Amino acid sequence: MLSFEVLEKAQEELLNYNGLGISVMEMSHRSADFLNILQTAKETLRNILDVPSNYQILFLQGGGTGQFSAIPLNLMTKGKADYIVTGGWSAKAAKEAEKYGKVNLVLTKLDQYNRIPSQDEWNLSDDAEYVYYCANETVFGVEFPWIPDVKGVPIVCDMSSNFLTRKVDVSKYGVIFAGAQKNVGCAGVTVVIIRDDLLGKAKKECPSVLDFTVQAKQNSMYNTPPCYSIYILSLNMQWLQSEGGVDAMDKRSKDKSSCIYKIIDESDGFYSCPVENSVRSRINIPFRIGGAEGNEGLEKQFLQEAEAKGMISLKGHRSVGGLRVSLYNAMSLQETKLLGELMTDFKEKYGKQ
Ligand SMILES: *Cc1c(COP(=O)(O)O)cnc(C)c1O
Repeated sequence: MLSFEVLEKAQEELLNYNGLGISVMEMSHRSADFLNILQTAKETLRNILDVPSNYQILFLQGGGTGQFSAIPLNLMTKGKADYIVTGGWSAKAAKEAEKYGKVNLVLTKLDQYNRIPSQDEWNLSDDAEYVYYCANETVFGVEFPWIPDVKGVPIVCDMSSNFLTRKVDVSKYGVIFAGAQKNVGCAGVTVVIIRDDLLGKAKKECPSVLDFTVQAKQNSMYNTPPCYSIYILSLNMQWLQSEGGVDAMDKRSKDKSSCIYKIIDESDGFYSCPVENSVRSRINIPFRIGGAEGNEGLEKQFLQEAEAKGMISLKGHRSVGGLRVSLYNAMSLQETKLLGELMTDFKEKYGKQ
């Protein structure tokens, strides 16, 4: 979801950006106007997230999935890394990394992705070049409330779905990446934040477009960058700043998610969320209706009633079924409460049969 203000501004400027008589889509990426857009995007993001000066901010292509390859290609110099698999996205990243070196799975395979085992059960290796984890598992709704303690090994984190929804101490990380389409802008651009000392380690066979060092040297313009996606990202960063930045989003995320979890938890099992309380995502809430296994008839009915009220995209990911609420930054508390009302009414109507 993008805020109305961002979309409106993009519409306003669609045909004629800054009086140039052309659209950002038509602009040369080497033009002063585009360089200005890129610079504003970068600076605003640096400001919002307090990114220290020894970190580079890159805008790359290939999505979050592209980073599943870029990370090992750039950082697995000696050939070993630790992966903390807590859901589908980190599992996919670990599988991709196996193409490039030895992947040590820190957790014994979970029978269900609904918890994060405590750190004394972790099997971290002594010689990992980095430890990888996913801050928020978008499909299963498991979110890390803390940063893993990995004894100084660089941490690589996929923040695609909870980027800028909470304060993050960037200095604790080696690399943070996030595909833009979840919370930062639209599809086509991926934000990568990398600490300077991790540059210059890429494998010989690393494609130049994925090479952090090459892209850092070229200001993310080794090849034509996704100009329009970077433009939307820039507008969105400015919007986020005007809304009060990450602190405001943090509070908003807390308020929105507790509104929905409260209804789930007080529904006497009519609604159920499979995720352990302490690691429940504040952004993606998977749930079932009519018991833990879900009643598909009721769930279908719910989706129809939601759609009739203009609430769409509530269907769970195809790999898990059920329903899922996504509360990205542009979703207001007020809109979330409307969904809450629907859930309460729906339970009144169908819960006692
Ligand atoms: C969506 C998502 C991805 C994949 O993003 P693409 O841009 O489709 O490659 C990776 N990680 C997480 C956590 C996601 O939510």
